Amino acid sequence: MKESVLKKLKILAESAKYDVSCASSGTSRSGKKGELGSAAGWGICHSFTEDGRCISLLKIMLTNNCMYDCAYCINRRSNDVPRTTLSVSELVELTIEFYRRNYIEGLFLSSGVVRSPDYTMERLVRVVKDLRLIHRFHGYIHLKSIPGASQDLVNEAGLYADRLSVNIEIPNEESLRTLAPEKDFKSVFTPMKYIQQGVLRSKEERQVFRHAPRFAPAGQSTQMIVGATADSDHDILRLSSALYSRPTMKRVYYSGYIHVNSYDTRLPMLRQPPLVRENRLYQADWLLRFYQFKVDEIVDDSYPNLDLEIDPKLAWALRHPEQFPVDINRADYEMLLRVPGIGVKSAKLIVASRHFSRLGSYDLKKIGVVMKKAQYFITCRELASPTVNELTPLAIRTLLIPKGRKKIDNDQLELPFQD
Ligand code: SF4
Repeated sequence: MKESVLKKLKILAESAKYDVSCASSGTSRSGKKGELGSAAGWGICHSFTEDGRCISLLKIMLTNNCMYDCAYCINRRSNDVPRTTLSVSELVELTIEFYRRNYIEGLFLSSGVVRSPDYTMERLVRVVKDLRLIHRFHGYIHLKSIPGASQDLVNEAGLYADRLSVNIEIPNEESLRTLAPEKDFKSVFTPMKYIQQGVLRSKEERQVFRHAPRFAPAGQSTQMIVGATADSDHDILRLSSALYSRPTMKRVYYSGYIHVNSYDTRLPMLRQPPLVRENRLYQADWLLRFYQFKVDEIVDDSYPNLDLEIDPKLAWALRHPEQFPVDINRADYEMLLRVPGIGVKSAKLIVASRHFSRLGSYDLKKIGVVMKKAQYFITCRELASPTVNELTPLAIRTLLIPKGRKKIDNDQLELPFQD
């Protein structure tokens, strides 16, 4: 690889690292003698396909020059950071070279906006088109659509990319205008609408013509920054829920705000990114997508933010002791899903297993139920432990928060969601 391209790669991959909508990057751990593997702070990240496979992607920007001045972004026009641009052919060759060396299985491509949204989008489209048509590249491609890009270009991009995405970034239009004066909801939601129309049109065409071209077969995703504005978790989750009601929206990503532009007084002074809040939002998002919860059950106007100390499902259960205990041998699937400690897989197994015998605590443990939590919310064949109603929600909350843990502040990371 040419030295000049390597230099550009370092700058552009570093610039792309704050975009979390293709997950798992941002660590920096070099390889050590006697140990296996390393994690570079830039370049390659991991993403999960719909069938659960983990794939590595080259995560890079075409250019980190940008004519916009979004307050929360490291690449904003007014920042004095090293700038560079890859040509279309350099980026194509880089991808192919990495792919041949088995470093990556795909590409996650974004860009700053240069000259105009259409000018930038046109170059991004050329990259994916060349990869597919000239190099016959069959790997995964996730392309960030540029806010304000024209429908023709979005339509063309969808023919070559597996997934298209447009970042909302700020969940409230007024705050977006304050922090990113050149953007508004229209410039973000219009390309989203184009992507949706393209996906649905392609589905219809393929029902008639088996070989009609596929359009963004992995659908679309978006990202919201958490903690850069005063928006509550209720505001954020309400928007996520509305987005998930659209047939092509696959994932909403939440990115704890990182204070990269400390000089900008429009932004809050956070000591550390709000990682616990970000984690709780992912858990709540999970409840919306897989546990049949509605936003207003998780947060509402009187309870607008998620509890940082306990997961949102446990928080809901403690606010609704009247719904418990749930009889494991009789309750329907939907109610089983609401029991803290029972996940989607365990709920399905419970429903399938109880046809054969009445289930007891030993069976539940074998199925994978987290009894430490579930015991306060269920009854089963022989379980005689006191439930939430005998012990009170407050007592259970105290029991389930590990002893000695300091009160969680926004900047403390907690364990991932365990149900
Ligand atoms: S348009 Fe994108 S790259 Fe440019 S400043 Fe805004 S967030 Fe950053």
